[in-house]
Amino acid sequence: MHVAIFGTGYVGLVSGACLAEVGHDVICVDVDQAKIAGLERGVVPIYEPGLEPMVKANHAAGRLKFTTDAARAVADAEVIFIAVGTPPDEDGSADLQYVLAVAHTIGRHLRAPAIVVDKSTVPVGTADRVRETIAAELAARGADIAFDVVSNPEFLKEGAAVEDCMRPDRIVIGSTDPASIEKLRRLYAPFNRNRDRIVAMDVRSAELTKYAANAMLATKISFMNEIANIAERVGADVEQVRRGIGSDPRIGWHFIYPGAGYGGSCFPKDVQALARTAGQHGHEPILLNAVEAVNDRQKAHLFDLLVRHYGAAEALRGKTFAVWGLAFKPDTDDMREASSRRLLQQLWDAGAHVRAFDPEARDEARRIFGQRDDLVLCESAEEALQGADALAVVTEWKQFRSPDFARLREALRDAVVFDGRNLYEPGEIEAEGIAYWAIGRGRSI
Ligand code: NAD
Repeated sequence: MHVAIFGTGYVGLVSGACLAEVGHDVICVDVDQAKIAGLERGVVPIYEPGLEPMVKANHAAGRLKFTTDAARAVADAEVIFIAVGTPPDEDGSADLQYVLAVAHTIGRHLRAPAIVVDKSTVPVGTADRVRETIAAELAARGADIAFDVVSNPEFLKEGAAVEDCMRPDRIVIGSTDPASIEKLRRLYAPFNRNRDRIVAMDVRSAELTKYAANAMLATKISFMNEIANIAERVGADVEQVRRGIGSDPRIGWHFIYPGAGYGGSCFPKDVQALARTAGQHGHEPILLNAVEAVNDRQKAHLFDLLVRHYGAAEALRGKTFAVWGLAFKPDTDDMREASSRRLLQQLWDAGAHVRAFDPEARDEARRIFGQRDDLVLCESAEEALQGADALAVVTEWKQFRSPDFARLREALRDAVVFDGRNLYEPGEIEAEGIAYWAIGRGRSI
């Protein structure tokens, strides 16, 4: 099938590569000329396991093309994906300017019947706005071309995006047109072989499904962080509580890890956007507001532990902190809304210095923070420890899980570790003479 994809970010590029991998003819469009020029030369702008070889192989095979020329992309596409960003507006609602800009572009260039598929995460009712926008552009140039707008929210996880795309849990298709559903069923058939993953529903339900999924996951995290904060005060260990509740299949093991708060490009903005949608429709989203408030407080928690250890924020002035992990989660270089950004800012505001290491997010950190005297971006976890007073762990990369505690104690002047992801056993690390502060582990407090 001939497929055009607008937006070559995490969603667009991964979807494009996976669709090309199973034999479709894919053309990816972006307004970012540097990104497209890089992709043409085989430079993949994001880190995602397995993505680079897949992009290169399919580009070389001629099944995956890149362009900034929207007219060329739309010319013979049967299916046109919208996979551009939907960042938060000033009031937290989703900013639809990029989605609607693509709708205008499609309307201006459509030459033959096509299905427009909205993969971006968009508020309920957006498919109608996309449809109206395209129809208006067609009418303006007197063109009468059949098209449909379908919602097909994306559920891939950064860090496992290729795997999720090749083996999705479910493929939600929001449409009431049997022909559109059938066309997408054929498009996705290679990913849908051993069982039927397609969940067809009306457009509005599909749009809401994506927000419901992310809000549910964010709720689990904030809930667990609430329990962790209670555990700290009552002298309980949230890790034991986690094991105690996860064994109940109604609760399950996933997404019940306490930590330094959730970040990334999706949970924060999607919880906010859903809350704004609720408010706009006269419903007070009490739970969603609380999920967001708990997370916002939790992002400051690691710094609170530092202050508790040193007695006062003023005591941090002139100290140097090693920080392990900058990305918002492991296996990605994405630092959007990452908890590390809050911690670094708080450390700098307190007059402390940072020696940070992240296996993938170093370039991103350099882009975000630029050159500054109070930040050294290190090449390794070991190097970050050199000359540091203490260590803060912010992202649970696998390579941080089993450090040599004796070497840690020797390297850190104050022999203290602040663990924002509960990676270590308190007894084990404390036995090495290291003071250990973690999230919700009453015994270390
Ligand atoms: P991104 O910011 O990584 O990429 C968006 C791309 O769209 C950029 O390359 C940008 O240059 C391009 N773009 C903007 N306007 C354009 C236009 N008019 N024409 C062509 N390209 C244009 O975004 P992302 O993380 O891939 O997310 C895209 C959407 O998918 C968002 O709505 C997001 O909420 C949703 N989503 C993201 C994830 C994720 O893990 N990142 C998962 C599921 C859903």
